[in-house]
Order: sequence, then structure tokens, then C-alpha cells
Amino acid sequence: MTQQASLVALQERIAAVNDVLNAASVLTWDSRTMMPAGGAETRGHQIATLTRLARDLLLASETESALEEAERALEGLAEDSAERRMVQQTRHAVDHHKRVPASLIQERAALRTVAQAAWIEARSKSDFSIFSPYLAKTVALSRTYADCIGWSEHPYDAMVSIYEPGETAASLKSLFKELRAGLLPILDTARSRPQPRSDFLFRDYPEEGQRAFGLSLAEKLGYDLQRGRLDTTVHPFEVSFTRNDVRITTRYNQNYLPASMFGTAHEVGHGLYEQGVDPAYTRTTLATDLVGLYAVGGTSFGAHESQSRLWENHIVRSRTFWHRHFPELQKHFPDQLGDVSAEEFYLAVTRVEPGFIRVEADELTYDFHIMLRSDIECALMDGKLPVAELPEAWNAAIRRDLDLIVPNDAKGVLQDVHWSTGYIGSFPTYTIGNVMGAQVMETLRRQKPSLDAAIEAGQYSALAEELRSRIWRHGRRFMRDELLERETGRRLNPAPYLAYLRGKYAA
Ligand code: ZN
Repeated sequence: MTQQASLVALQERIAAVNDVLNAASVLTWDSRTMMPAGGAETRGHQIATLTRLARDLLLASETESALEEAERALEGLAEDSAERRMVQQTRHAVDHHKRVPASLIQERAALRTVAQAAWIEARSKSDFSIFSPYLAKTVALSRTYADCIGWSEHPYDAMVSIYEPGETAASLKSLFKELRAGLLPILDTARSRPQPRSDFLFRDYPEEGQRAFGLSLAEKLGYDLQRGRLDTTVHPFEVSFTRNDVRITTRYNQNYLPASMFGTAHEVGHGLYEQGVDPAYTRTTLATDLVGLYAVGGTSFGAHESQSRLWENHIVRSRTFWHRHFPELQKHFPDQLGDVSAEEFYLAVTRVEPGFIRVEADELTYDFHIMLRSDIECALMDGKLPVAELPEAWNAAIRRDLDLIVPNDAKGVLQDVHWSTGYIGSFPTYTIGNVMGAQVMETLRRQKPSLDAAIEAGQYSALAEELRSRIWRHGRRFMRDELLERETGRRLNPAPYLAYLRGKYAA
């Protein structure tokens, strides 16, 4: 077979996998935006069946022979060519899934159903002991899972590799050490300042006005509504069904304006990444997470988060942005914001206020919530922290980092859904996103001095173009650190992020 023919044969197999996973994503999107609550149980089965079908297609003998043929035929191509990467990544995923027995997947899925119910009850009663036995089982199954996938230094490495390939318990430990040391003095300075006025954020903001402004914001940032749409949900997310249909969602809080506004900017960042993937990669391995069995064009969870944080925090949560665009927001809400200046608005949406809840955290304290969770996951995986002692460890970390006393488990260890769904290992990707976003932005500003003038003028297409050509178009071709080395000259490094936060919150 020629190189071309062997690749086509493999791509046909992967295109089918991608189609099935996109269908599962449509069902997920529907379940989180439109579906009546009664559909939850059967919908869970439907999504599980499609995911299993995708795995079966990937592990079928026809895929294996197409893969072997392509491996032989493409051997001579450059190691980092898109074609070779498609083949290598498919091989990696096939090997991964072969190591995980179907019985373990079923066991994890069955546990997820009961664990989520227990978590909901535990949270409503603020009683960790109700959830604790299920979390203990989740940890035990995660260890079995990690052993199947394989690890050498730490079992957490295997779990993290699913979301953020290349990252390990050890690399995270050193990243967090540097971050903590850098963040604490910035937080001290920020906390020593008087709080700005923020009463106007809590006024009455009808949903129609919030939605209209959100849509204009999305378009301003370059999100293509011909290939996307904005819907309402409880826990906002972005999902793509190929680059030509990339959906975002938001949540409107009538008495707190920033929630939907910055939430929309965040999801737009995710959406831009997906809309910007090279069209040639559509329905290929380079737009499919074949290990996680999820149709996505971004190269890792952290890389994806870097783009959402970049647009949300570096662009929209900036003084420049509000000094330019605040009058537009005022037009939508003349009564609510008539007595507020652009500077007052900026100060209010960047105020630092340590709290208990991760999803409500400000930009400066957010990473403490993540580092705490990641440290706990790591200690759960190697058995250093028994599940029963989790609330104690949690509360001690919140006290140490944020100087707050956690009043109850609902506001502490029970606040996030992640562990009840069997997911261990995804938390670090949020902080990796913050670090990577700042690193990319620092390089762009240094290499393209004209960019700042464009941003100040309210023109965001130049920034989008840079990000498209440097990051988005590559889809999953390059690993995160490979991408960072190509574009910023070094691997993930927290220095630009700390410098950015220092300038914004401690200058
Ligand atoms: Zn995100």
C-alpha cells in the first residue's frame, strides 16, 4: 500500500470513532441544556453505549491492521509530521485501551452512579461520612486503573496523564512549590488594601440584557456564531461537534452580573480554540482524544484551559478592556450602572476576596483551591492520606493558605462534583491553564509589540490570528510542552504567570 492509501484506510476507521464520539457529545450537550430531568437515567446508558462502541471500533482487528499498515508505510516521514503523529497517537490509544479490561470500565461506571447519589445526599446534609465509603472505593478503583495503565514513579502519574500527558506527581509538586511561594506575598499585598466598592454588581440585571451583552462580547472576541451558539445551563461548559459546530453555554445570575459575563468570555476562549483547528484535521486522530474517548481538537485539558483563561482574564478582566467597553455595558444597563465609572467597575471585578468555594474564587486565590485538591488527590492515590482524614487535611490547607476556617463539609471537601464522578487527576489542569495562558501572552506581547495597541483599540482579531497560527490550528498534533517550546522557547514555566499577577494585584 502507498503512504497515502494506508493513511486513508486508517483515517476511515478513526473518522467513524470520531463520529460516534461526536454523537455522544451531542447527547451530553442536550442533557446539560435541554433535556428534562426524567431523561437522565436512559441518557446515561445512551452515552455509555456510544462510548463503548467507539472503544470497540478503535480496538477492532480492522483498525489494528490499518494501523500496522500505516505504521510501516509512514515510517520515513518526519517524526513530528501530522501524518506520523496521527499514527503514533492512535497506537498509543490502542495500547492504552488494551491494558484496561472492560470489566474495570464497567465497575467504574457502576460506582459512578451510586457515588454521585451519595455525594448529592452528603452535600445536602453537609456530612462527609455519607460520601466517604464511596470515595474510598473510587480511590481503590483508581489505583487499579493506574496499575493497568502503568506508572513508574507514582500512581498519580497515570491518572494525570489522561488529562495532561507529560505531567507527573513530581513535576506538579515542583510547579506548585514555586507557585505557592510566589503567590503568597502577592496575596498579602492585595489583602492589605481597602476593598473597592462593588455594591453595583449585585443589582437587578435582567437575563435578556445579560444575554445580549454576552453575545456581543462573544462576537467581539472573534467567536463565529455561524459555527456556534450560546445556550443556558447550570454548570457552564463548551463542547464541539467538529470545528464547524462549537457550542458554548452560560448561567445567568440576575443579582450578580460578573457570573455570566466572565463565564461567557471563558467559554468563548475554549470555543475559539476548537473553531480554529485546521480543517484538514476534522474527523481525524488530531481532533480526537482517543485515550479519554472524547471528540476534541485541543491538545490537553491544560492547553484548553490556557485559552479560556487568556481571554477571560488577560483580555476581558483587564483595565484596558473596561476603559474601552464599559459604555457599551452601560447602554445595556443604564439604571444599574449609571452611577458607576469604568475604573470603579474594573476594580470591582478584580477585587480579591479569599473564600471557601473554588468556582467563586477570584483570580488571585483560585490556584490555592486547585493546589489543595491536587495535593489531596496525590496523597489519596499513594495512600498517604486515608479517606477518613480528608476533611481535616482540607480544612488545614484552607486555613494555612487563605487564613479561613471552613465552617462545614458542604463548603469544604464536598463542594466539587469531580470525585463523585470517579475523576481523579483533572484538577491540576486548571492551574496549568493559568500558567500556560500567561506564558503564551507574555511571549506574544514581547514578540509582537503592535498587539497591545490593537487590544487597547478594542481590536482582538490580531490576537486571535496569532493564537490561531501558533496554537489552535495544530489541534492535537503537538503535546502541550512541545507547543510551548515551539512558541515560547521553553516548557511550562510559572514565572510569566507570577509576573502578570504581581503587576495586576500587587503593583
Ligand atoms: Zn474552562
